[in-house]
Amino acid sequence: MSTWRIGDNVAWSSAWSAETGFALRASADFPGMLEVSQVDRQGQGEPLFAAVHVDRQRRGIVDGRCHVCGVRTDMGDRWMCPVASGGFVTLHDGRRGFGCNVPPLHGACAGLAAARCPHLGRLVEAPTPWPDEEGRVIQRTDVPPGMEALAATLPRDREIIYSCYRLFSPDVADRIAALRDAWDVQIRAGRTAT
Ligand SMILES: [Zn+2]
Repeated sequence: MSTWRIGDNVAWSSAWSAETGFALRASADFPGMLEVSQVDRQGQGEPLFAAVHVDRQRRGIVDGRCHVCGVRTDMGDRWMCPVASGGFVTLHDGRRGFGCNVPPLHGACAGLAAARCPHLGRLVEAPTPWPDEEGRVIQRTDVPPGMEALAATLPRDREIIYSCYRLFSPDVADRIAALRDAWDVQIRAGRTAT
C-alpha cells in the first residue's frame, strides 16, 4: 500500500513515475501555439519529487490551483514563497518585473510544505501574500531539466510550450527583492550562529 498522500507528503504538482507518456496538442491557454501534454496517472508508481507534471504546473499558474493540494486558491488565502518561486525578468522598458513559475499555496498548505519538504532544510522561508494584481501569464518554450530526451523527438520548426509563469509588475518585483534580501541576511545570521 502506498504511503504517499497527495496534498500531504507529496505535492499535487509533482509528476509520478507512471506519467511517462507525452503528446503535442494545440494550447487552449495560448491560442495558436502547441504545448506538451503529459499523461495523467497521478498517484501511480512513485512520486518524482524533482519533476513537475507539465499540465498540472500550467493549471496551477493559470487557474491559481495550490501546488500542494491542487484545490483552487482565492485571494483571501493565496500565498507565495518569495525565494523559491521564480526570478526577475527585464521588461521592455528596462524595468524589473517578477516572474513566478510556482503555483500559489494555501496558508495551511505552506505550513505543511515547510514541515515536510526536505529541500527547504532547517531554515524555512516565510510565505508572503500573493500579489494583489493579476499579472500576465506567459508561456515558456525552453526545455525543463530532465525533458531533453523528449524534446529531441519533437518538431524543431515550431515553438513548443512546456510551462508558463505569471509576470508581475516592478512594484511586486521590488517587494520580492526586499524579502529575498531579508532572507539572505537571515541565512548569513544562521550560519554565523552555528
Ligand atoms: Zn492547498
